[in-house]
Amino acid sequence: MINRRDLLKLTAASALLPPIVGRAATADEPDLRERLLVAQASPVLRRDRLPEPIVIESVELLRHGEQFFVRVRSSDGTEGLALTNKRVIRSIYPMLPALVMPHFVGKDARDLDKLIEGVFVRGHNYKWQGLGFWSCVAWVEFALLDLIGNHVDAPLGELVGDRIRDRSGIYYANGDRESSAGAVVDQLEELIDISGAKAVKFKLGARMRYTDASTKRDFELIPLARKRLGDDVTLFTDANSSFDVPLAIRIGQQLEAHGYGFFEEPVQFDHYDETRAVAEALEVPVAGGEQVYGMRRFQWLIENEALQILQPDLLFFGGFVRSIRVARMAEAAGLKVVPHMSGFGLGSLHVLHYASVVPNSMPYQEFKGDKDGLPYEVIGTGKPLQSIDGEIDIPSGPGLGVRFDPDYMRRFKPVEP
Ligand SMILES: [Mg+2]
Repeated sequence: MINRRDLLKLTAASALLPPIVGRAATADEPDLRERLLVAQASPVLRRDRLPEPIVIESVELLRHGEQFFVRVRSSDGTEGLALTNKRVIRSIYPMLPALVMPHFVGKDARDLDKLIEGVFVRGHNYKWQGLGFWSCVAWVEFALLDLIGNHVDAPLGELVGDRIRDRSGIYYANGDRESSAGAVVDQLEELIDISGAKAVKFKLGARMRYTDASTKRDFELIPLARKRLGDDVTLFTDANSSFDVPLAIRIGQQLEAHGYGFFEEPVQFDHYDETRAVAEALEVPVAGGEQVYGMRRFQWLIENEALQILQPDLLFFGGFVRSIRVARMAEAAGLKVVPHMSGFGLGSLHVLHYASVVPNSMPYQEFKGDKDGLPYEVIGTGKPLQSIDGEIDIPSGPGLGVRFDPDYMRRFKPVEP
């Protein structure tokens, strides 16, 4: 039990603690904390480029088979569309009309920053924080950005800043943990052949665990990929939380010896102290963030030098605006971002628009090709997104810069709440 004297001591001690704002974060970066707080709180949507109110008249969820779209309309009849991630939405779509969509109806889309903050605290929505809730917010947000872009005839990037890139390099990721090291390198060669990619990523460990067999394969694969693909290819690896700290450090040293670009999720994704321990022991940059849902979690990871490359997922983390805030925090700390790309279908479109406007973006964005065969075209080219010589032109048409086949869209019907 605390007596009065102890309580007074505690109170006195807490009075000596430095205030949170402006507190020295690290000895050599005394004002980092303050810069991170400014970066995450500054306006994102450029209201100065939006002279007229854009009143959101409707927010609808449309479905045809396995595919869902969010469609928004403003009072003058302009539309915005966002294709959702079909692997995610089929498990969670009732959250959209129940928790998220009604918050936006009747509001001015120019207040997007505040609407996103508002939907988080609406009712008890904050208790739902996680992949499901934030993905729902992100889909509505991408539809609204498409709508706003259509209103002012500007691509998505120009709604939040100055477009600094018209094209971006891509990397392909290989997800095979079953095949031999040699067979994985065969697959990487094939991906490079079809896309011209200058960077590829492959998996390490056994996904959330490791085994003797997976470790043997990792130690074989790391030098083999470098030897066969050559020094001109940038190599990334993703452990999906497979290792403990000692093994992560041994693996990381191999990555360093063979000049790898980053080491993603070496230890369990929410073991932040362990992630920091790995990062402290290694020179190869540690990447992560695809399973981070809170802005202050990213702040902690940056401030404590646990991650050197930040990977917010533009859908899982709640959309473009929130992910821009992460990029700005990373920039304030001199770090790079490369978003995790969860959106099959048009996920690449989101990360390309992000790269168009984020100065500290890495030179390669993840691209999965057009596996779904979606009937869409990039406005101005008449073709889907294509990697030529390992680069993709970032769409410059209004909003998301793509158009779906009208016959295909007519098959979609509203999902009743
Ligand atoms: Mg990953």
